[in-house]
Amino acid sequence: MNAVQTRLKVRIRCNSCGEKFILKGRMDKGKIDTGFKRCICDNEHDFEIETNDV
Ligand SMILES: [Zn+2]
Repeated sequence: MNAVQTRLKVRIRCNSCGEKFILKGRMDKGKIDTGFKRCICDNEHDFEIETNDV
């Protein structure tokens, strides 16, 4: 078994206030896991998400 997971650089832009976040994440069973919960403006759902392989 190989424990190495795909690491990603994740860029998140809030569609509500326009704030941008750059996070490190990984791909877990086809889903992106960043630990990101919500924006500083309390928006939790309306984001533009872009990923790049590190
Ligand atoms: Zn926001």
